[in-house]
Amino acid sequence: MKFEHIQHPAPVPGATRAQAIADPGFGKVFTDHMVMIDYDEGEGWHSATLGPCEPIPLHPAASVLHYAQEIFEGLKAYKLTDGTMALFRPEANAKRFNASAKRLAMPELPEDLFIESVKQIVKKDADWFPGVEGGSLYIRPFMFANEHFLGVRPATKYKFIVILSPAGNYFKSGAPAVSVWISEYTRAAPGGTGAAKCGGNYAASLVPTGEAFAKGHDQTVFLDAAERKWIEELGGMNLFFVFDDGRMITPPLGGTILPGITRDSIMTLAREQGLDVAEEMYSIDQWRDDAQSGKLVETFACGTAAVVTAVGKVAGRDGEFTIGSGGPGQLTSTLREKLVGIQRGTVEDTHGWVMKLD
Ligand SMILES: *Cc1c(COP(=O)(O)O)cnc(C)c1O
Repeated sequence: MKFEHIQHPAPVPGATRAQAIADPGFGKVFTDHMVMIDYDEGEGWHSATLGPCEPIPLHPAASVLHYAQEIFEGLKAYKLTDGTMALFRPEANAKRFNASAKRLAMPELPEDLFIESVKQIVKKDADWFPGVEGGSLYIRPFMFANEHFLGVRPATKYKFIVILSPAGNYFKSGAPAVSVWISEYTRAAPGGTGAAKCGGNYAASLVPTGEAFAKGHDQTVFLDAAERKWIEELGGMNLFFVFDDGRMITPPLGGTILPGITRDSIMTLAREQGLDVAEEMYSIDQWRDDAQSGKLVETFACGTAAVVTAVGKVAGRDGEFTIGSGGPGQLTSTLREKLVGIQRGTVEDTHGWVMKLD
């Protein structure tokens, strides 16, 4: 598909941009451009544009505003040590985007069109790459239903958009261990949309996350909806548990857990390092017992935004417990460094995960 390039009438001046990307934080600064592609039933995907990042007019009856037919992805463009920009496993994001689309009764987007859209905007706004140590361009592709219709059925019109947000290092060197709160609320039920990356899942996680913040914690742990017993994941990150005998487990995907690309990469790297890695259900009571007996030595969360983050403290209705020394453990740090190294080009990419952009 050919992209029509629409000239930006007034891109952000260089000095203003430099200021904006000096310490961008996360998700607050946006670049000059966006990619937009329309879908109409019968016609398919058409009218691809690379133009100014600007507000999009919506009819008040646009179905996304009423029935939340919306999905998204999150990936990053990194800078390798030689200055080349690169994406990390973008094919996996393209594939997962279509899996989400299917679950939300939305049209699939050809995987090469997803990747081409990402490449186009990253190249166009390469000047927005933040110079800060550990900085990246966070890429947010998303799709929503855009038909003016209040009946309840899948829409016949959609928009696919890609925007870019310069991001700083989530945690500077010596990443802290986070404190997590075990919520009584659940995020995903069997047969629901837990495995799809859709806005609705996040809407449901905001009250429990607010509760965690109010109690002084950083994140929420969600348990399974049926028994409220089995650990599933955080609101936006997958979990791993490391034992003193060198075993490592993560909850199995089963429709209620988001299949993280970081999760998958970490399993591969850990196995390569000789660890015994299993996808295994793990209960909240066992977690507490194992942490207290010292059998469990580390717990970490992982996802694109923060990569790998140690969990130091766990709190819930039944009290609190600490994992290991309460700080980042050995394996957490090793795996984090290895993954970040591959993403930055300082560790050899033996899996073909890095896609260079020039
Ligand atoms: C995106 C996401 C993750 C992490 O996935 P990555 O591909 O590793 O970034 C984990 N859990 C939820 C609920 C998510 O939305």
